[in-house]
Amino acid sequence: MMDNAPYACAFCATTACLRGEFDKMPTTCPTRTRPETTRDPGVYAAEPVHGEMLAADAAPFTSEGELRNRVEEVIFYATAQGFRRIGIAFCVSLTKESQKLGRLLREAGLETELVCCRVGAIDYDEIGLKKAHPERFAAICNPVAQARLLNARGVDLVVQLGLCIGHDLILQRECEAPVTTLVVKDRVLDHHTIAALR
Ligand code: SF4
Repeated sequence: MMDNAPYACAFCATTACLRGEFDKMPTTCPTRTRPETTRDPGVYAAEPVHGEMLAADAAPFTSEGELRNRVEEVIFYATAQGFRRIGIAFCVSLTKESQKLGRLLREAGLETELVCCRVGAIDYDEIGLKKAHPERFAAICNPVAQARLLNARGVDLVVQLGLCIGHDLILQRECEAPVTTLVVKDRVLDHHTIAALR
């Protein structure tokens, strides 16, 4: 029975894992109930995951001890991992911001390829989606084409900005390179989704 209990992270009031306080962990804490999975440092010994963990660990702070913002972290991580060409898959509503990211990446010595979500200019009618105004052209988001264009350029990493829920998942599935999210689409909260959780 215990084995099927929900992982206690769902209601944990101690987050004792953070401090290694084993006696304060809930009885259904997966640190206690699934040690063969959760307490296996050996999974981080081999490459590439060891190098990925080193780069992630070094990302938050500069060598002078200053915190990096997330854009700076992406640049640091990409450089530390030896990535050369960065793909940017962006929502048309964030075109200027995405182009600025491209400039910042290039100033850091990286190559970039940018692809807008409406690439291809495929009308809603062409894939059987309903339109608010049927008499007008309306371009679908085209995450499959975004991914394929970036795959064709052999990018080492894809950064996505502002893609809709669902389109982001298609992009991630279709991309050959790893995908990181810099901005999530949140039309109500100006992409500041954490505000809905506080
Ligand atoms: S791992 Fe255990 S201690 Fe940490 S949040 Fe989950 S239930 Fe709480």
